[in-house]
Order: sequence, then structure tokens, then C-alpha cells
Amino acid sequence: MRALVIEEFGRPGTVRDVPRPDPAPDGAVVEVAATGVCRSDWHAWQGHDSGVRLPLVPGHEFAGTVVSVGSEVSSSWVGRRVTAPFVCACGRCSTCASGDHQVCPNQEQPGFTHDGSYAEFVAIRHADTNLVELPDEVSFDVAATLGCRYATAWRAVHRRARVVAGERVAVYGCGGLGLSAVIIASHAGAEVTAVDASPAALEIAVRLGATKTSGEAVEGMDVALECSGHPVLADAALSMLRRRGRHVQIGLLPDGAHISMDAVIGKELDVLGSHGLAAHEYSVLLRTLPVDDIETMIATRIPLADAQSALDTLGRSAGVVLIHPGLG
Ligand SMILES: [Zn+2]
Ligand SMILES: [Zn+2]
Repeated sequence: MRALVIEEFGRPGTVRDVPRPDPAPDGAVVEVAATGVCRSDWHAWQGHDSGVRLPLVPGHEFAGTVVSVGSEVSSSWVGRRVTAPFVCACGRCSTCASGDHQVCPNQEQPGFTHDGSYAEFVAIRHADTNLVELPDEVSFDVAATLGCRYATAWRAVHRRARVVAGERVAVYGCGGLGLSAVIIASHAGAEVTAVDASPAALEIAVRLGATKTSGEAVEGMDVALECSGHPVLADAALSMLRRRGRHVQIGLLPDGAHISMDAVIGKELDVLGSHGLAAHEYSVLLRTLPVDDIETMIATRIPLADAQSALDTLGRSAGVVLIHPGLG
């Protein structure tokens, strides 16, 4: 099969033929229909992620069709349209037993701990725990935005910040993650302010429900959702919260990044982390999926041959880039 293979951190990967993966006994192999290009892929490529070993096929948010399963997995999965969370939980530990699969200590992540979905086929670990069947009305393209960005934002808004109607929510950084947060917080009835340096990103944020943007006052927020991973923006987010406000850090911060705790103490802020979404929560998310809004986020669809250039230029244009391995 063809895949983008990274051989050296920070050096361009090449699209070439590699062996098609076999499923582990409790795993599955999915033929990739669409896979998103995410900032986390860029970090993996740059060598910012200490868990990554090379060579590696990146890619962790995908959708496709199950083509084979291991001996311990029900063969009824074969032929079904699926996605999976980027955190593939073990399903067996005490953390998983409590329902918190998104922070499973034994988690595997396609595109980080093993080869990912910038490929014609991707192997998934612990398939019965992590495969999510897609309803017919959810396209592969829409589903390919769910595994990382949309699902992560959904948990941050609903399970961590617990946003309620009428609250003032500021979203810092309007890439795929931040735009997802704008959609979800707007649908929850919040008054959303989008913060980003890019006018094009803000223009999309407004189409998705943001009522204010960076230039306007963002003081006195009830909730800050920091999606950029920039320490400066995280500090700004904390300083703009009201007393007793809630900050959710979703964007991955660089190693050793420093965030000031002064506002956290002085205003008694709640600072929360958020990391993915357990597969068992997808049924709730899929029921309320604003498909049209998610399609608005998708900027371009490219063949696998252009995957490296998509990593090179990540963030230079607004919206989500999807790779379609079937395009060649
Ligand atoms: Zn576990
Ligand atoms: Zn991602």
C-alpha cells in the first residue's frame, strides 16, 4: 500500500509503498477514505513528541471501512463504516473501567505510537473498545474531523467546561480544534468570542456562530477554551476570565512552556485539561452532529501525494485539510 513515511524529524517524508498492516489479535485494519491534517501530526513530524519512534506514518483522525479484524474481534465489523478516537484505550484497566478511556494509561495512538492514517490502510488496536460505527448520514469527510479535533472540543465544552446557555465563551486559536469549539459552544447557546491572528480564520468562526472576534473586548469571560497551544495566548485567556471563571487548556503546549498562575490564584480560576473523547461517548456526539457546520470547516481535499506539502504549509490557510488516499 502507499503511505507517507517520515524517516527523519523535520525532514520531508516520502510517499512510497510499504507493507499493508495486519490486525493484532484484538485489532482491526481500516481502509482509509479520508484523514485530517492536524497540528499534532506536524508536532510528531518535527520531533516534539517524545513517544514517537521513526520511521513513522503520521495521521490520527480518519474514517473508512473495516477490511479485516484479529482473531479476538467480532467479524461483524468487516465492511462497516467507522472512525476511532485518536486515543485508542486498552479497555481493560481501572481507568477504562471508570469510563475515562480518553486518559487510559495504556493508550495507543495511530500516527504516534504506531503507524497512522496517512496511508491506504491503518491498523487500530483494541478494536472492540475503540471502533465507532458511523451512521449513514455522516460522511467519511465529516467523520474524519471527529477523531481528534471535533471530539476533543466536544469533551472540552460539555464535559470539562460544562458550558451552559448564555455564558460568555472565548475560543483562543481558530484552527480545526478552535473552529470545532466555536461550533459546539454556539450550539450550546453560549455567546462565543473567537480569537485568532488570521482574518480568514475569524471569518469562518463567524460563519460558524461566533458573535465577536479578537478585536472586540474579551474581558469578563465565563469560560476560556485555549486551542492554540501558545503560552502567550494561554496567559491572555487567564487574564480575560472573570473571577471564578473556567479555563480549559486543549491546545498542546511546547515542552517547558510557562503559564503564569497569578490570575489563577488571585481570581480563583478553575484550570482544566482536556484530552480526546472516549469511543463510548461518540453516540451522544453523533446524535447532535451539526454536519453542515462541520462541512464548512473543511477547506480542501488532497491526494496522499500532497500530504507532505500539507504538513509544510499547515496553518498558512484557514480551515481543515483532508487527505483522500483513494485520490492517489
Ligand atoms: Zn485502559
Ligand atoms: Zn489531531
